[in-house]
Amino acid sequence: MKIKLSILFSIVFSLSLFAREKSPNILFIFADDHAYQAISAYGSNRNKTPNIDRIAKEGMLFNRAFVTNSICAPSRAVILTGKHSHMNGQLTNRDTFDGSQQTFPKLLRKAGYQTAICGKWHLKSEPTGFDFWQVLKGQGPYYNPPMISDQGIKNITGYTTDIITDVTLKWLKEDRDKNKPFFVMSQHKAPHRNWQPGPKYLSKYDNIDIPEPETLRDNYNNRLEPASTQAMTINRHLSVSDLKLKAPGNLTLEQKSKWDLAYGSKNKAFENANLEGDALLKWKYQRYVKDYLRCIDSVDENIGRLLDYLDESGLAKNTVVIYSSDQGWYLGEHGWYDKRWMYEESFRTPLIVRWPGVTKPGTHNKELVQNLDYAQTFLDICGVKSPNDMQGASIVPILKGKKIKNWRKSLYYHYYEFPGAHQVRRHYGVRTDRYKLIYFYMLDGWELYDLKNDPNELCSLYGKPDYEEITATLKTELTRLRKEYKVPTDNRPMSENVRKSKKKKKG
Ligand code: CA
Repeated sequence: MKIKLSILFSIVFSLSLFAREKSPNILFIFADDHAYQAISAYGSNRNKTPNIDRIAKEGMLFNRAFVTNSICAPSRAVILTGKHSHMNGQLTNRDTFDGSQQTFPKLLRKAGYQTAICGKWHLKSEPTGFDFWQVLKGQGPYYNPPMISDQGIKNITGYTTDIITDVTLKWLKEDRDKNKPFFVMSQHKAPHRNWQPGPKYLSKYDNIDIPEPETLRDNYNNRLEPASTQAMTINRHLSVSDLKLKAPGNLTLEQKSKWDLAYGSKNKAFENANLEGDALLKWKYQRYVKDYLRCIDSVDENIGRLLDYLDESGLAKNTVVIYSSDQGWYLGEHGWYDKRWMYEESFRTPLIVRWPGVTKPGTHNKELVQNLDYAQTFLDICGVKSPNDMQGASIVPILKGKKIKNWRKSLYYHYYEFPGAHQVRRHYGVRTDRYKLIYFYMLDGWELYDLKNDPNELCSLYGKPDYEEITATLKTELTRLRKEYKVPTDNRPMSENVRKSKKKKKG
């Protein structure tokens, strides 16, 4: 009997080991503010991203991936919890993430996964649910970043994008428990404002002009007031720190020769010395977009390092690689930089998934997916059941190439941070395959776009004849979504309510 039991035990043990070996690892590479317009796999006419393209070539690219609230910390909280901002409490960048709540890393860890996060965290509270974490303090600088872990603060010398990859690789190679499957988040600061390139790419694009977007000179006609009262235009709102130069003004020859002596005759400070009007806008756009793209070059190069390591170590075949960003970004579209809007460039975000042996290489998908789906997707990939209170859906069936009958037909969006940086009014709305309805509730104003006929969203059709029916349908859908997601009817951000109630108590 004793012998039989031990045989049985060893069979069960080897079966469980076999099952464990089959559990896929996940490498989640995440950028901050990476526009899909700056990825060649998405058709960029501005730059090339050979390593991100490699993930796309060997996996699936999502053409309609969106966020629920287009701003940094809230997007991260949505990803961790699989819940909308009003449910996870992170409505704006000002809030502190409640790390005691349920998150997918905690659930993966419980299921036997090793979990790690390296790089940008940006949620104020300490990371929870990770076996290993080494993260930037707040936004973190582009160079020589102090990094926090449960061992305290460590100052590291170098370029932050390279360092985040170094930290990720060190954990993968040396520090993780190799008997367990892993989930690791390698999260970049780049290409967040103020776009400081790495040493290697400082002069890339110096002698070329980057194409301008069609809507760089948008006049904001045919829309409500918010599009024109924001504070994120390239023309008026980029600072000296963003452009890394102060316009020296009109210099006399004598002054110029002094500058030449001090800074070198090829100093770019003179490029804008006598510019005004459209010429100045052109100069600022080039100056801004080139630094942004240089930051992407480092991100892309470092993705290559991670992919190479997966190949060399033999981990590639059982590791799902995912690339995404916390939201999209304006590379001059509508004359803007920054994010926040429900308009396409900031509402959309890149999402590319390589799952060897499961996802057909080189495929594109057009279903409406959202960062709300990431948590359930990660859990599903790892064979862990999602809790019922998560609000997204696993995209695993899509990754497996299955035809899904009941996939969502509409998306809900809600932006809260006003008053706040860049003065984008609070709004919520619904997007379907073709239409988008936005409600700027502080002004009680609506915008409606037909994305098929007006992909640049230049003309709101709200209130125009012949659009009554589609407007009514979208309003009904919006109400249904708000009910389904349990959105409170009081639209003020929770943080503001908390501040108000604290004030009351003090008073
Ligand atoms: Ca961001």
